[in-house]
Amino acid sequence: MTGQNAFADMLQKARMDGYAVAAFNVYNLESFQAAIGASESTGMPVIAALGERYFQNLRPRAASALFHGLQKSGSGAKNPLGQIGLHLDHATEVASCFEAIEAGFTSVMIDASHLPYSENIQRTKQVVDAAHEHGVGVEAELGGLAAGEHSHEFFEGREDLTDPSQALDFVTRTGVDALAVSVGTVHGLYRGEPHIDMSRLAAIARLVAVPLVLHGGSGTPPDLLAGAIRLGIAKVNVNTEISVAAVKALKNAVQSDRMPHLSELALVTRSAMDEVMDRYMRVFRGDGSRDDHE
Ligand SMILES: [Zn+2]
Repeated sequence: MTGQNAFADMLQKARMDGYAVAAFNVYNLESFQAAIGASESTGMPVIAALGERYFQNLRPRAASALFHGLQKSGSGAKNPLGQIGLHLDHATEVASCFEAIEAGFTSVMIDASHLPYSENIQRTKQVVDAAHEHGVGVEAELGGLAAGEHSHEFFEGREDLTDPSQALDFVTRTGVDALAVSVGTVHGLYRGEPHIDMSRLAAIARLVAVPLVLHGGSGTPPDLLAGAIRLGIAKVNVNTEISVAAVKALKNAVQSDRMPHLSELALVTRSAMDEVMDRYMRVFRGDGSRDDHE
């Protein structure tokens, strides 16, 4: 049974209406401001995603305080509460999920995809039971993505494409609200030609009713993303490309003879992040059509 929660509601609506919710990784003030700003300026939902990987930058409790504080101080004009989620990205530890649930996150991702299938089910189910009791949504992953260039979350990864009938079995047995699938995208930037296995994605979408999640949005051409969204992808994670853009802007800023102030550099990263997020938001908007139930 899928427990209804804000995360499930947000993504089910996206899948139904043929658009995708952007999940941008957050780890400092500027990334939070940029993610919240992207929702405010477009009126579209956004998920601010803190990876377990970034706990050394921010623990869930501090991230939650920052997130809720910023939302209260925003204009709120086009941004009614519930339009922005706070998500735990790629947690390998169940304890990290519990920490995020306790801190007031909207949703958590338990990633036990590297474990044998039965253990993936067991660990995911454990998180689903605890999360749903608190009205928190859960994403899990089946299959594996290859590690591309500049990936900060995964230094190694072997591509293991998601099997459609196993995906149905997994979702049924765990009760997850959303499923991350491996259909050709990579974590980080592509080393070769970007590709998405559309027929595999279509086969998964025909069997699996819960919203599907595409990790490795960075560097994926807009037409491929739009095609995946039409087939049932309701959440797309973007991390690396935002970081690369911000670091390039920083490099330019510190190359000048003048010694910039650290506060200026923070603003430089912020506007670089804004630009990339804005570009993705326009792609994720979709055209309102979907192919999955034709
Ligand atoms: Zn990912």
